[in-house]
Amino acid sequence: MNRFAQYGCRPVINASGKMTALGGSAVASEVAAAVGEAAMDYVDVSDFMEAAGRAIAGATGAEDGCPTSGASAGMAIAVAAVIAGSDPKLIGRLPDSEGLRNEIVVQKGHSEPFGAFVRQMIALGGGRTIEVGEPDLTEERHIREAVNDRTAALFYVKSHRTAQSGMQSLEVMIAAARERGLPVIVDAAAEEDLRRYIAAGAELVIYSGAKALEGPTSGLICGRADYMRACREQYDGIGRPMKIGKEGIAGLLAALERYADRTDESERQKERMLWLIEELRGIEGLRGSIVQDEAGRAIYRAKLEVDEAALGFDAARLAERLKTGEPAIYTRSHKAGLGVIYVDPRPLLPGQEAAIAARIKEIVQSQQK
Ligand SMILES: *Cc1c(COP(=O)(O)O)cnc(C)c1O
Repeated sequence: MNRFAQYGCRPVINASGKMTALGGSAVASEVAAAVGEAAMDYVDVSDFMEAAGRAIAGATGAEDGCPTSGASAGMAIAVAAVIAGSDPKLIGRLPDSEGLRNEIVVQKGHSEPFGAFVRQMIALGGGRTIEVGEPDLTEERHIREAVNDRTAALFYVKSHRTAQSGMQSLEVMIAAARERGLPVIVDAAAEEDLRRYIAAGAELVIYSGAKALEGPTSGLICGRADYMRACREQYDGIGRPMKIGKEGIAGLLAALERYADRTDESERQKERMLWLIEELRGIEGLRGSIVQDEAGRAIYRAKLEVDEAALGFDAARLAERLKTGEPAIYTRSHKAGLGVIYVDPRPLLPGQEAAIAARIKEIVQSQQK
């Protein structure tokens, strides 16, 4: 059953979230079928890229699109596209961009690592990152003063990892870019709304395929037609080592179709977490409750509060035992220091809440013996 066990990898239960480190998403069967069917046949890849562009346009409200191997590849390719455009000589010269407009303006508070570094992805596309403002404060003038004859684009990051206050809005960045006739690139990797940033007027918007979209390892850029054509053309240049194959494109498109028809699973997820909490009731020193996502999204997680004196060990220890056991259970443990861990129902496969309950009971018993 478990594909990874045959290679000696421990089975994993993901109760944490969509994370690249745990393999992104576990895709639906129709998405997996699309990947498999595409892998077993041939296609003119440039035809398929253009068709994918049209499908991405339909899903996002943009003029056109470009599939990528991930959001981070999308960052590099989008930057390359605004610097080299569709000029084959320049496409072949990147990431050497000396003498070209190559500066990419980013607010310092947006330049947080997502697993790698924003400036690295920009550099792969031939861009020079110009960070403006302070980590917790950007003023409008910081952006305007940074824009000059060498500026190629303004880059906006939407993520829970970046500074959430003190930053200038996308609207301010778009206005500053418009005055100079420059494009705005948005990294919206993990966002759920595929239309919002295009509707706001951004020229190039980047998403991850394996996060909210629940696709295979992949990504997309959507935006203005001339830039999207230029993005696809970068596959003859810096895009080559980050290409997405026919399988990835097919899976991404199947995930996009599925995303358009998605139903709200949040009530069902909440019921599963209520079941888990009920199963754990009676363990002295462990208190379960349902909490809604901090950002107000319809995500209902099980919050497990550990009373160390009563339970005999603390929340960090519980998270660690869960993670190092078999199966390896990854919870949201960033607040374990405060005595709390969370179970996120979204990435759980059917029935895994039962495995989590059983494992927690086992750990409690073995620790208390
Ligand atoms: C996850 C993430 C990325 C990287 O996405 P990949 O698809 O893994 O390449 C980039 N930026 C942000 C804000 C992210 O959350």
